[in-house]
Amino acid sequence: MCYIPFGGIRIKKLKPPQQKDIIMKIKDAVKITHTLSKPGKMPGPAYSISAKNCITGAKLAKIPGSVCAGCYALKGRYMFKNTKSAHQLRQESLDHPQWVEAMAVQIKSHKWFRWHDAGDLQSVQHLNNIISVCKLTPGTMHWLPTREAQILKEFTPDMIPSNLIIRLSSHMINQGPAKQWPHTSTVTDGEGRTCPAPDQGGICGECRSCWDRDTKNVCYGKH
Ligand code: SF4
Repeated sequence: MCYIPFGGIRIKKLKPPQQKDIIMKIKDAVKITHTLSKPGKMPGPAYSISAKNCITGAKLAKIPGSVCAGCYALKGRYMFKNTKSAHQLRQESLDHPQWVEAMAVQIKSHKWFRWHDAGDLQSVQHLNNIISVCKLTPGTMHWLPTREAQILKEFTPDMIPSNLIIRLSSHMINQGPAKQWPHTSTVTDGEGRTCPAPDQGGICGECRSCWDRDTKNVCYGKH
């Protein structure tokens, strides 16, 4: 029998739930994972934790010219007391044994979902759990941008469900796409931007390039 620690208590490690097993009510799911986030730019909800806990991003934030220097998720509304409290509650819930089911219950009615409008992957297990959520929500397209190449090294593209696009983000502004993953994102402060959001009021509108498997790289303008 396998056990994992949670809140200082040793509890049984449960198998990921199957679609037919999801019977949790949304109000009970929110008590476990806290709420989803609702970035106004996106066509659906998202999920955020504190950018202060980004493993790679916290190091990059100190490097001028990196995409994390001046990170939008470390200022403005992300510093409001209620947002910081929500980030803390979500972070503390990541190892909860019912996290996968609770996230799937909240996401399954949405067509488009973005992982981490603030924050990033925390561990290999975190990504395994997200993959389980995606398998439980086949009617949802998931987009997960990440800078955690070390975590992605533990996965191959064929381990990723077809309704999840993981984009490995390059570290530096004007750097080319990463080579070790099929879907990527980059940032430019000059030519080559492919994200149309700045031309359409800062929203995605009809664009779904970030979720599009045929779009190998998305290039954003520097914020
Ligand atoms: S590329 Fe399209 S989907 Fe992605 S953030 Fe920009 S507008 Fe939104």
